[in-house]
Amino acid sequence: MNLKDRFSKLIAPSRWLDRFIPKPPLPEKICTECGHTGVPERRRRGEDVIEVGLWCLLVIFGAAYVITYGINSWSWKIMPGLVVRTFSLLTKVCLLLGPVCTLWRISTEYQACPKCQHPTMIPLDSPRGRQVREQHQPRQ
Ligand SMILES: [Zn+2]
Repeated sequence: MNLKDRFSKLIAPSRWLDRFIPKPPLPEKICTECGHTGVPERRRRGEDVIEVGLWCLLVIFGAAYVITYGINSWSWKIMPGLVVRTFSLLTKVCLLLGPVCTLWRISTEYQACPKCQHPTMIPLDSPRGRQVREQHQPRQ
């Protein structure tokens, strides 16, 4: 994992919100892909980098809007109205996309196999679970 990914993981809003969501411990499950038995890992779809990028754009466009709007309202009027309106629009777009991306990531949490990373963990006591267990752990 490189520095950019590590930084994104640290500041991604969905990971911060995650800490306030109660997470009951997961029961042991079996992976239909590789036959691994164990506690699944909670994972989310989407990239931290993209989520963080959207929020960064919001800050950048928001700041640009405040600055250009501020320059005009301090009676200098040197900023074309189109520039101010464009930043205003981009800020609104990011204001919509950032939370949507964060909420989408929180709502798409899935349970992945800690061994092969596939989202194929099923309960141990289900009929299919028993079948997989027998396939991978033949009786001696
Ligand atoms: Zn697996």
